[in-house]
Amino acid sequence: MSGNFLALAQLGVQQLSPYVPGKPVDELARELNLDPANIVKLASNENPLGASPKALAAIREALTELTRYPDGNGFALKTLLADQCRVELNQVTLGNGSNDILELVARAYLAPGLNAVFSAHAFAVYPIVTQAVGAQAKVIPAKDWGHDLSAMLAAIDADTRVVFIANPNNPTGTWFDAEALDEFLQDVPAHVLVVLDEAYIEYAEGSDLPDGLDYLAAYPNLLVSRTFSKAYGLASLRVGYGLSSAIVADVLNRVRQPFNVNSLALVAACAALQDVEYLAESRRLNESGMQQLQAGFRDLGLSWIPSKGNFICVDLGRVAAPVFEGLLREGVIVRPVANYGMPNHLRITIGLPSENSRFLEALTKVMARG
Ligand SMILES: *Cc1c(COP(=O)(O)O)cnc(C)c1O
Repeated sequence: MSGNFLALAQLGVQQLSPYVPGKPVDELARELNLDPANIVKLASNENPLGASPKALAAIREALTELTRYPDGNGFALKTLLADQCRVELNQVTLGNGSNDILELVARAYLAPGLNAVFSAHAFAVYPIVTQAVGAQAKVIPAKDWGHDLSAMLAAIDADTRVVFIANPNNPTGTWFDAEALDEFLQDVPAHVLVVLDEAYIEYAEGSDLPDGLDYLAAYPNLLVSRTFSKAYGLASLRVGYGLSSAIVADVLNRVRQPFNVNSLALVAACAALQDVEYLAESRRLNESGMQQLQAGFRDLGLSWIPSKGNFICVDLGRVAAPVFEGLLREGVIVRPVANYGMPNHLRITIGLPSENSRFLEALTKVMARG
């Protein structure tokens, strides 16, 4: 008789649902026999600009060295990041995407008998990394779709080792201001590592969002995670980073795979970080696209959750799944968020103006069918 290899998995893993990514363009093209060139994907918060030309040039140059292992210490990228983020080199941890950083935190600090606190409607990777190491996920009900920071504080107990907070949060786009973060960090017990996930922070510049980096010196229990996948336009290369006290960085380095960031990602990230025009254009495009989508929603009489990210959740006022399917048939891929406890919403990534228009036209058509 063979073993039941589902029942043999550790309990937290048995209870996990796998991460559901946005539907790939080629998959929809195959399923509906559509031309991939006519499909609009606004489903994974990717940068609609395409990668920075400087990043592409750096990759071309690095192709000659593919037989070599990458620099396992990521010296060049860490040096640039330390400089830009006003920290020491030994406070930087590089990850295979910032998801890797979240996983390193869980592997280093969580275990059976311990727990992580995070909000409802927060990023799907928090429960995955928590349960994967057999720790308990304490999911705290949201307030107006955003983090209820005081309820999260109240949920912390002696077995809590990590709190995940995202600013802005994905998929809701909600955020908290500096005053709320100040208060939260002051009150979190010293034995709890606060992971401040700033995957979209580059889009929030000039708004009332606090900059997590401003808090690192005062809070040795703070880790700020950031990524090159969104505003820097390098999602396919998988590169992100964590900034923390040197001690936390040392701990994460102990469990890190030796070459977790590949050489093309390293050189591309260095180039993207220095391409200030690209970042400025990403922000500009995002701001105007956000206005465009909101105007479209207003015309359709739909409400939405105000967002500081490169995406927005629209409330359809009814179960969203059939509308999602209808949009697919129009060649438009967006993101259903029922698995985030939001069955009436769809999450739309801000695209190019023409992509936003295509989406709004398709939405109008699909909604009119009732
Ligand atoms: C996209 C995203 C990330 C980044 O993922 P990568 O692994 O860096 O591609 C992290 N946190 C949140 C909330 C996100 O939405």
